[in-house]
Amino acid sequence: MVVKNKKLVKRIVSTTLAVSIAFGSLGYAAGFENVLANGKSGYSQDQKVVARVNAERAIEHVRYLSEEIGTRPGGLEAEHIAADYIAKEFKSFGYDVDYQYFPVGDQFIANVSFDNGTVWELAAAPNGKISDEAVTAEVVSVENNDFSNVDGKIALLPRASTVADYRTQVNDAVAEGAVGVILQSLVGSRGNFGQTFNPNLTTPVDVPVYGASYIHGEWLKEKLANGPVEVSLTAKHHSNLQSVNVIATKKAKNRNNDGKTVILGAHHDSVVGAPGANDNASGVGLMLELARVYQGYNTDKDVRFIAFGSEERGLLGSRHYVNQLSQEERDQIEAVFVPDMVATSYEKAENLYAMTVDGSRNTVTDSTVAAGARLGNSDILPGRFGSSDHVPFHNAGIPAALFIWMGIDSWDPLIYHIEKVYHTPQDTIADNISTERMQSALDIIGSGLFDVVRKEVPALEKKNK
Ligand SMILES: [Zn+2]
Repeated sequence: MVVKNKKLVKRIVSTTLAVSIAFGSLGYAAGFENVLANGKSGYSQDQKVVARVNAERAIEHVRYLSEEIGTRPGGLEAEHIAADYIAKEFKSFGYDVDYQYFPVGDQFIANVSFDNGTVWELAAAPNGKISDEAVTAEVVSVENNDFSNVDGKIALLPRASTVADYRTQVNDAVAEGAVGVILQSLVGSRGNFGQTFNPNLTTPVDVPVYGASYIHGEWLKEKLANGPVEVSLTAKHHSNLQSVNVIATKKAKNRNNDGKTVILGAHHDSVVGAPGANDNASGVGLMLELARVYQGYNTDKDVRFIAFGSEERGLLGSRHYVNQLSQEERDQIEAVFVPDMVATSYEKAENLYAMTVDGSRNTVTDSTVAAGARLGNSDILPGRFGSSDHVPFHNAGIPAALFIWMGIDSWDPLIYHIEKVYHTPQDTIADNISTERMQSALDIIGSGLFDVVRKEVPALEKKNK
């Protein structure tokens, strides 16, 4: 009981403080007060969602995607298996489903196989040896670029920080007789542990060269500490790839005069070598759970649920989706909600942010901030961030926002915290999913979106008219 109250008090204080820090006492904070006052009336409608959405159910989808399927790199078979699973779920809720295919670039995928049957997915250098003919040898861990023991072995070494330097590492290892090279990526681009990468070699080499995540390297070194380790290296060049968006639509019961549509979209792919429990099976799980609950209610606007493909390859699914829309279709889209990483257990990711590309407010940020206020849930805060599927919509002038748990130290300069296991093999349910945060995200996003699509309720809109 105490813990709870203390936590709540802390949350309210931090929220108010954070808002005034982020946007100053004028402007946004003022808007926020308005929302609080007007939002109360929507409480009863919120309960229609909050009373039914279930975080465990959403996490069952996360389990299927991140454990039954595993990694889901854009364009590969696993991503299509995920698309079929999502389509099956939508159909089971009674929705009609469309697939939208689009071409994506080649993938160079590597496998490291162990005697006990374990297989790791890494990323291969296109200019290295790409073959399903295994290279099997002992692994040697190289420190300080000392290649004196690599002859006839597979060299595991910490990747140098520059591309030019790791190319030199590869050439030196091969010159000393290494029959394979595994480069361990140390740090990622967001302060996270290093993730897999496709080494970019200018000079082709006739041995396998793979980019491993930090944790892959540490796991290998742990094994080596217990004795010699032999692995088999194989790789495949996947070409003529198609990725896929899965689209399900809930039709408005009684179409009102504006014929508007609201989109809830989450990417279903993951990066190479990572099962992507939080990034972004969590967003798909949240979307499927809301699709299940909303099916029981009438809405005044169409709700379109979209599982975007190949987000990790450059927002390719959402770009394709927006690009093929006519201007008339774009004008019909009132708001786009994009949950991407909505259930991390990472302590420092304290708040659920409703991020717009430029930090401006819109229907998506306001409806969810208002929902949080009505529910007495102060996890939600507005913010400014790009790098997800809300960007192509923003660029097309369509109100959109990304939902993500993060810790923000400052906006200018932007200093933020996301989980260290982001984009790594440890983005799993066990290491990176919080049921409590999934529930909070379901409540806030679920109520905020419901408020927008149920015209007779949103107090906010009436006030502004
Ligand atoms: Zn993501």
